[in-house]
Amino acid sequence: MLKIGFGYDQHRLIAGKRLFIGGVEIPSPHGAVAHSDGDVLIHAIIDSFLSSLGVGDIGQLFPDSDERYRDISSLKLLSKVKLRYLNDIEILNLDTVVILDSPRIASYVPSMKIELAKVLNIDTNQIGIKGKTSEGVAPDLIVSYAVCLYNR
Ligand code: MG
Repeated sequence: MLKIGFGYDQHRLIAGKRLFIGGVEIPSPHGAVAHSDGDVLIHAIIDSFLSSLGVGDIGQLFPDSDERYRDISSLKLLSKVKLRYLNDIEILNLDTVVILDSPRIASYVPSMKIELAKVLNIDTNQIGIKGKTSEGVAPDLIVSYAVCLYNR
């Protein structure tokens, strides 16, 4: 059966934090406030799978009250989700957007695709990632939306 999933995440940005998007660290004066590494793109992708599979959401699976997940790489969280829930599905494609005023992410997108494709065991051409800005409306915010299509 074909299934589609949708996920969303956002984090507040503050000065002096490291910025991780799609498993890639991007040089930046600010980063996401979060219990984990605050990788919104991966969090949106994880939620797109979990909710459409009917197995809860990222907050239930990896609670921010759990010290095991403090500062954890979200690639590791994605890897756990893959092992537990995605090994018996055939991922057709993911499409995503990251909304962030600065820094611009376009030049890092190929590396993000490589990191995500490795963990999900798919091809980079099955992953879409595009950067947008908030047009200056939300300079202290990073937001991501993700849809996934898979056969189960
Ligand atoms: Mg998050």
